[in-house]
Order: sequence, then structure tokens, then C-alpha cells
Amino acid sequence: MSIKDNLQRILAPLPSTVTLVAVTKTHPVEKLQELYDTGHRQFGENKVQEMVEKYEALPKDIQWHLIGHLQTNKVKYIAPFVSLIHSVDSLKLLQEINKQGLKHNRIIPCLLQVYLAKEETKFGMDEAELQGVLAPGVLHQLAHVQIRGLMGMASNTDNREQIRQEFHTLKTLFDSYKQTNLKNARMEILSMGMSSDYELAIQNGSTMIRVGSAIFGNRA
Ligand SMILES: *Cc1c(COP(=O)(O)O)cnc(C)c1O
Repeated sequence: MSIKDNLQRILAPLPSTVTLVAVTKTHPVEKLQELYDTGHRQFGENKVQEMVEKYEALPKDIQWHLIGHLQTNKVKYIAPFVSLIHSVDSLKLLQEINKQGLKHNRIIPCLLQVYLAKEETKFGMDEAELQGVLAPGVLHQLAHVQIRGLMGMASNTDNREQIRQEFHTLKTLFDSYKQTNLKNARMEILSMGMSSDYELAIQNGSTMIRVGSAIFGNRA
């Protein structure tokens, strides 16, 4: 199957409320250009350096999503062009994104990553940390970021019921913040679901899926 066929197969049944981010990590720019030529513009990368190199090599109307763990000292490299950072997992990181947004005279859209999986290796905030960030007194000092929603990754397991429960937990949390009406926080985007579980994620309220291998095949 070609990239175009795979993309079509995923997009055709997708509800209009759901955005597909094509996860292009590890793939060469030729493959990304092939995706671009189908008309797709939402690209996701998990590493800063790789994203910067691809940004420089490819057309400038691509919307770049940073989906992987972001170190504070690397924010400056993506701040000029990133279109959504999915992986904000601390107030300290958000403060640095704000600082870089100010420097580049832009407001950087962000999602707060929530810790869902019962695995030690996954990043994200717990509910208390989330509440600490989504507080008026904290956020109004950060005029160069805009919180657009939440992101989460389910456990890497074959247990569908566990995955469903994790997505449901995140959706419930997302809904509990829906009323949040701060100038720079509007809960509109719920980023959850990858190749193996995006259908389950959509059934549980996802509005943005991050899909790599179902488009490009397995990574080397
Ligand atoms: C790699 C990655 C994906 C996509 O994974 P696939 O299984 O290839 O669809 C989604 N989200 C994050 C955060 C990733 O790192």
C-alpha cells in the first residue's frame, strides 16, 4: 500500500471533528514530501533536531506538531515555527515556551500532557500538577502561550479494556476543564490515539490522533 492509499483509508471514515497528525519520525524527507504531495499538512515529530532539519528541508506551509518529550533547553530551536506542542509536562517547560514565544513575538499553542499509562517510562502531569498550571494566577503571567487542550498516551498493552479505561479517564478530565475560560486556555483539543488504538480513542472522545506506522509502515 502506498502512503496515499494508507492515508485515504484512515481519513475516509474519520469524523469531521477529528484531526489526523501524520507522525513522520524516523522517515526520510522524500517520504514526507510524498505525504505533502497528497495535500496533507499536519506533520508530527518527537525529536527537536529531526523536526528542525525536516522543517528546513520542506515547504513552509506544513504545520509541525512536537509530540515527544521536550527539554527546556531545546525549546528555542522550535519556537519560531512549531504549530502545536503536545507534550508540555511541567510548569517550568511552559514558562520557557512562554519566554521563547515572547522572544519570537508569537503565541505558542500547547497541550498539557497527562500521565495515563501505568508505565514508569511515560511522561506527563498528574491531576494536581494540571490544576496547578490551569490556574488563573499562573496562566495570566504567560501571555505567549495558549493552552488548547490535553494529550495522553495509553499503556502499551494488548488489553483493550485497559486502554479504553485510560482514554475514558482522560476524556473525563478533559471535560472537567471544558468550562475553563481563561484568556490563554481554551480546552478544545484532546490528542489521544496512535496506529494501534486510534479507533478506540475516537470512540472515547479524541479530537486529534497521532498516527505513524499505519501510514508509513513499521519504523526501522
Ligand atoms: C511515535 C508516536 C506516535 C505514533 O505511533 P504509531 O504507533 O507509529 O502510530 C504517536 N504519539 C507519540 C507521542 C509518538 O511518539
